[in-house]
Amino acid sequence: MNKYTIFGNPVSHSLSPVMQTAGFRHLQLDNTYDKTLLTDENIKDIFFKLGLSGANITVPHKEYAYNSADIVVGDAKTIKAVNTYIRQGDKIVAHNTDSYGFMMAIDEFRPLSSVLIIGAGGTARAIAVALKSANLTTTVANRTAKKLEFFDMLGVNTTTTDNINTNHKYDLVVNATSAGLCDSDYPMSQDKLRRVLTDSKYVFDCIYGTMTPFLSMAKQLNIKYKDGEDMLLYQGVKAMELWTNTKATKGLINSMRSALRDKNGKQGEL
Ligand code: NDP
Repeated sequence: MNKYTIFGNPVSHSLSPVMQTAGFRHLQLDNTYDKTLLTDENIKDIFFKLGLSGANITVPHKEYAYNSADIVVGDAKTIKAVNTYIRQGDKIVAHNTDSYGFMMAIDEFRPLSSVLIIGAGGTARAIAVALKSANLTTTVANRTAKKLEFFDMLGVNTTTTDNINTNHKYDLVVNATSAGLCDSDYPMSQDKLRRVLTDSKYVFDCIYGTMTPFLSMAKQLNIKYKDGEDMLLYQGVKAMELWTNTKATKGLINSMRSALRDKNGKQGEL
């Protein structure tokens, strides 16, 4: 039996334990997956003290987890934030599976050539790196300019939301802010957002389990939209593949999705 956890603060709301436990059971593994509230402890010390084989890391520790890892693999090196740990002897190997989760989640949005990401936090970084690798024209808009520096260095277009060109046409508009998560905020001025969305084909919100004002506007404008549930699912599926050194089958993905939906209040929808 191997032990896994999710580190976060807060972490009580996390759906990862139920989803990953369903994955382990589907694979007939008796591994455990818990939640660990991480405040100011050293993540590496706690990881080894708990005897973990792997972990997920969520808000606000992804950058700290990146800095604490012994080996960083793949896109995570560019994103400079990680959400998955794997123990390799006395070393921690770290990955970022959010970018994979996002690309899988938007797979049905085709054709796609230009994407607007609203927000410039860790999630926006993972998404921008994935979109750039896929050669899609990417623009990042944030309410404040400071966090745009990373994206300027990455080589994607940047703007503040106040200065956004509302005449530009984006195929897909992504909300990667936390606006709408625990409030009724739009990620930018409602008027500007409506003008941007009017010309777009698809809308994606990283937030899951709630109809945000952003998604409600897309629905009102009759634009195809999706929340962040599949992103959560597929970042978890990729972590499961890495931990168990297996390739996810449809059966595994469905087990994890069902567990997520039961918990997320969408019982039965697959
Ligand atoms: P960060 O805290 O790193 O970044 C938050 C971003 O949101 C910043 O750009 C911030 O702007 C912006 N923001 C916050 N509040 C507002 C507001 N009221 N209006 C406009 N902009 C706002 O968060 P993360 O990148 O980690 O997460 C972003 C979202 O993605 C969260 O809602 C989270 O739940 C979701 N998420 C979903 C995942 C999934 O699997 N579906 C995975 C990871 C995250 P500023 O820089 O100006 O402060």
